[in-house]
Amino acid sequence: MTSDTTHYRTCPLCEATCGLELTVRDGAVLRVRGDRDNTFSKGFICPKGSVLHKLHADPDRLRAPIVRRGEDPETATWEEVSWDEAFAVVADGIQGVIDRHGRYAVGAYFGNPSVHSLGTVIYNRVLIQAMASPQMYSASTVDQMPKHVSSGLMFGNPILIAVPDIDRTDHLLILGANPYESNGSLATAPDWPGRMKAIRERGGKIVVVDPRHTKTAANADEWHSIRPGGDALLLCAMLHVLFAEDLIDAGRAPGMTTGLREIADAVEPFAPSVVAPRIGIDADTITRMARELAAAPTAVVYGRIGTQTVGFGTLAAWAVDALNLVTGNLDSPGGAMFPLTPHESGRGKGRGRGFRIGRRHSRVRNYPEVRSEYPVAGLAEEITTPGDGQIRAMVTVGGNPVLSTPHSARLDVAMRELEFMVSVDPYLNETTRHANVILPPPTALERSEYQMAFIGLAVRNFAQWAPPMFDSDCLQEHEILGRLSLIFTGPDAGNDPAVIDAMLLDGALQSAIDSTDSPLADRSVDELRAIVRTNPSRTAIDHILDVMIRTGSSGDWFGAVPDGLSLDVFEQNPHGIDLGALQPRLPEALRTESGTIELAPQIIVDELARLATTLKTPIDTDGLVLISRRHLQSNNSWMHNVEALVKGKVRCTLLVHPTDAARLSLVDGSDAVIASRVGSVTAPIEVTDEVPVGVVSLPHGWGHDMAGTVSQIASRRPGVNSNLLTDPELLDPLSGNAVLNGIPVTVVPASPQF
Ligand code: SF4
Repeated sequence: MTSDTTHYRTCPLCEATCGLELTVRDGAVLRVRGDRDNTFSKGFICPKGSVLHKLHADPDRLRAPIVRRGEDPETATWEEVSWDEAFAVVADGIQGVIDRHGRYAVGAYFGNPSVHSLGTVIYNRVLIQAMASPQMYSASTVDQMPKHVSSGLMFGNPILIAVPDIDRTDHLLILGANPYESNGSLATAPDWPGRMKAIRERGGKIVVVDPRHTKTAANADEWHSIRPGGDALLLCAMLHVLFAEDLIDAGRAPGMTTGLREIADAVEPFAPSVVAPRIGIDADTITRMARELAAAPTAVVYGRIGTQTVGFGTLAAWAVDALNLVTGNLDSPGGAMFPLTPHESGRGKGRGRGFRIGRRHSRVRNYPEVRSEYPVAGLAEEITTPGDGQIRAMVTVGGNPVLSTPHSARLDVAMRELEFMVSVDPYLNETTRHANVILPPPTALERSEYQMAFIGLAVRNFAQWAPPMFDSDCLQEHEILGRLSLIFTGPDAGNDPAVIDAMLLDGALQSAIDSTDSPLADRSVDELRAIVRTNPSRTAIDHILDVMIRTGSSGDWFGAVPDGLSLDVFEQNPHGIDLGALQPRLPEALRTESGTIELAPQIIVDELARLATTLKTPIDTDGLVLISRRHLQSNNSWMHNVEALVKGKVRCTLLVHPTDAARLSLVDGSDAVIASRVGSVTAPIEVTDEVPVGVVSLPHGWGHDMAGTVSQIASRRPGVNSNLLTDPELLDPLSGNAVLNGIPVTVVPASPQF
């Protein structure tokens, strides 16, 4: 027996980035607990983080590439092959499709897990470039694209996202988010419950707006149940109150904002008395909410997935920032602020090229491109509709769109028509069963850990890096993606991904040398490359990260800045490095053409006019609408094969209010058939007044009962796939984000009640 060793690293399973302490004995993880010395999470951990090692040890996880033998994904057999054999099959398959149909016939889908790993965050971009196809799709259009669009339009940069400064605010208004279960999203903060409790303990106030009485609502000062999809109306009514009552106090913003006057006019139609009957919140309450927001010493509005996966998602995302701005809380302590990561320079002239959507349009439905991708709701028809540019091959990286995208039964059928598919994924799941080749990445314990995407959304400036804990049988993600990129580049590119590593590393060094007032101006790429590569245990992805950190906002600039950061410094600080509270970053961080916060771009003014037209339509309160929900033990579709997280009470149930249950003869615990325009599922009923009358709720990410998958535990408790009900024709038109909340449904008992 060897002695125990202790390792510290960031949990990669959700956006909260908690610090973990892992104890290893005899080559296996004995225990995982929260790292009490982590400078950001201070010991917080949730049930998912404590079983991270069980994902690593999961016997169903692939440890070598596999190749499908047989046409039918339900009955096919799979053969384990070497990495070289696997890439040879991929090269043949991809090249064949390109030869027969052209480059645009190959599409790609990037799933949510690929933003939780450094290798995929950096090398996905390389793959996209090498593919040179417009057929790009991701989980962003079932999740957060509205926020990217609103940030792009207002600030000129779609990834410049303002996060709630929850540790300093006096007043937190949360819409469509349930951080007690999700642990936060687009706002990285370990221990949301503790941080929310602290707001109330220091005399602050928390108001929650959500159709359902969530756990977050139960821990707030106020909860207001809103009709699903009504958030943009509520937020515009609050803006109306602030302008009508002359409560605008934009703090530092007026000097750097354009469009205030236009917005005052555009929100004129949304008087609380007009909006109230449509959203189920009375006019006096709307008015009071607006006044309290304006009166609080510091306040912040935070809206998340429930506000964005609806038909006016971008407008709701915009209105959140607009309210923060006109109350003087944008880019201000205690309000909504912009994090500064150590891997970015933070320098800027406060001006740029701005942000555009619709630089091209999708082939079948003419959807505008957003951030170089199309709505995933349209992917199935791009595969099945003949014509130039029809998708005949797919690459998927770390996602499960057959469970997680609208009308997923159609995508499941469409994928059978593909001539070739390759998936980078650790599981043979509902989506990857359609692949010809599956290339498994290493686990989170077998790679370096630096949560690049989520550090940029943290409510404190913070970062942590850790080296791999275990060797892997798999290639690292950057190696897999590098080899795939070479296949797309063409046979002359060879098959050694080191050429891509060198290109990225040298490019990062050269741009640091060339940057304005660079302390590296008299240094050479050759010299700096040699320094970065000194540590033989580090991989190419570590070298690139090291350069980004050393030349970032707190970097050591290769010795020019004493006490600056480098990967060595991170290695010496295994509990993470706290870089302080968020600081104002405007106007330097702006990238709009005008160099101002563009509050009223024409697209938004037009969208406000479209929203205003809905005020003239009859109010429809008949029928049921479906909303989604999140559980603490679950993260989309990818945590259901761990016994500790799925045991106990069945969670994939349909929540129904007692009044609706009585009216529809639905009995608690019995099955019901839920049907929408596009499909139906059968799920057990849970009668509860957690949901209001007229609203039912089903969690997403379930439906693990498809033949041809390997997930022994998930398939024993499959649940039902809520995306058999979601409608691919319902989109937020500005972002292409799918409408996943407020879906009209009918519910009847599965067996007649006597
Ligand atoms: S809250 Fe998120 S990051 Fe923290 S332990 Fe749980 S899954 Fe991991």
